[in-house]
Amino acid sequence: MEVAMKELKEYFDTAMKFHGHKCPAMPLGLRAGLAAMKALGVERSQDKELFVEAETGKGHAAGCFLDGLMTATGCTYGKSNIQKLYYNKMAFTLIDAKTGRAVRISLKPEFFEKALNSPFVQERKKGVPPQDIPASITDPQVERILGLPESDFLMVSDVFHKDVKKGAANFEVKRCAKCGEAVFTDKLTTAPDGRLLCIPCSG
Ligand SMILES: [Zn+2]
Ligand SMILES: [Zn+2]
Repeated sequence: MEVAMKELKEYFDTAMKFHGHKCPAMPLGLRAGLAAMKALGVERSQDKELFVEAETGKGHAAGCFLDGLMTATGCTYGKSNIQKLYYNKMAFTLIDAKTGRAVRISLKPEFFEKALNSPFVQERKKGVPPQDIPASITDPQVERILGLPESDFLMVSDVFHKDVKKGAANFEVKRCAKCGEAVFTDKLTTAPDGRLLCIPCSG
């Protein structure tokens, strides 16, 4: 069953505010994230219940895709439950941190190749910023993506097992002896004279 359109529109509105401009790649990430959550039967990550390993890099569309993916899954750079692998692939793995159940999703190559020839991307290639591309070009592409059947553009793997490495939470801060700022202790170094220094102050 596809994700209900009303829920998708709500996610889209949130993602629009976060992302900053309307483009086709953000809703692709949004839909891909929701598809992965559905495949695992999980809710959006409130804390670090979910983890994303994104295979994307800095290429065109990849950043926009990731903003949609973060909005859908709740895996964000702020919470550190997303990691970018820079394989420059439009793919990611969503992992349920508690159970280790995981699913890998990628854009179908023929779909992505076609998308890179879309009128929107033609404008981008000419150097037009996404927010300046006419709505008559952007809107139909975005609407189409929001309504596409998942099987038209997504490869969804079977559920497999993958563990998430968990670092111990550190709540302890001490002051750097040089700049006086509060620093989490795991990133303070001890100088030869025994003073605790933050990374920039330790040279
Ligand atoms: Zn974008
Ligand atoms: Zn310092």
